[in-house]
Amino acid sequence: MENTQNKPYSVLLYYCYAQIENPEEYREEHHLFCVENNIRGRIIISDEGLNGTVSGLIEDCEKYMAYVKSDPRFAKTEFKIDYHDTHTFAKIHVRYKPEIVHSSLRHLDPNVKTGKHLEPEEFKKMKDQEDVVILDVRSNYEHELGRFKNAITLDIDNFRDFPEKVKELEHLKNKKVLTYCTGGIKCEKASAFLLEQGFEDVYQLHGGIIKYGMEAGGEDFEGKCYVFDNRIAVDVNKVNPTIISTCHVCGTASDRMVNCANPSCNEHLAICEKCGWELEGACSVECKEHPEKRPYDGTGYYQKNTNGYNPYKGLHRKPNKDLIQKLHGESANSCV
Ligand SMILES: [Zn+2]
Ligand SMILES: [Zn+2]
Repeated sequence: MENTQNKPYSVLLYYCYAQIENPEEYREEHHLFCVENNIRGRIIISDEGLNGTVSGLIEDCEKYMAYVKSDPRFAKTEFKIDYHDTHTFAKIHVRYKPEIVHSSLRHLDPNVKTGKHLEPEEFKKMKDQEDVVILDVRSNYEHELGRFKNAITLDIDNFRDFPEKVKELEHLKNKKVLTYCTGGIKCEKASAFLLEQGFEDVYQLHGGIIKYGMEAGGEDFEGKCYVFDNRIAVDVNKVNPTIISTCHVCGTASDRMVNCANPSCNEHLAICEKCGWELEGACSVECKEHPEKRPYDGTGYYQKNTNGYNPYKGLHRKPNKDLIQKLHGESANSCV
């Protein structure tokens, strides 16, 4: 998206499948870089690569992107860049996990085999052809808020359950299958899995819905795109936008995504403005009366308490001279 309103912050979304021999050591270094440059968000480091969504001042995000790409293993990383008035995360988490997306498909390496990548303009041209089916590989709470026109969606609450659902798609084996997800990462494995299961002609939307919105105007994406930060949902379609979700309470068309104000429910739902105020941000009368219900301010987003937040938490060893110097380059000599 172009930064037409001169917003001071960037929001980055990216992934890179690449073998990391020393994930824990790299995690430390990466975490420290984020802390030192006021980058916030969620980053997963695994033996199979990197996956992150972060926010920071534009200049800090530029440094961050240069830092990631300066490592030959991640030189090919593509960043989806959006702009915002503020940070879209309250904290930084850099975690080691066995996979960069929890998929139950650890045996598949997209660098060896995956669906053919379609750039947004190619996807746009191909999606309405006769022998093509569009497959949304995301979960219920995501495709209920927004999806491509005519897309096949799956009744799953988690991407882990994708392989099981593929059994229901047997009849599509001879079609051209175009998969898509938010930023492209799930499709790397989902399309690889389809090929493994005998689907013959499998494609994936490179960069996902987010890049499609930026580069192809978002045509025929109906509703909004669910995102994993404080914004909850973003607009994608500048060509023929529609609302497909309905208020969970009264059933009128609404794409106002909120988290239920009852923390023990915390369900992601569309609730219209009117019902939001009436139920004070809760999804039901029971949730409204819950003793721990959080105060509603009209946004439906609840920042976790950040008092006493220590960004260095999670760093196992104290930043040492060598590491600081490595991260800051030559200029560190004067300040260490
Ligand atoms: Zn309503
Ligand atoms: Zn609730």
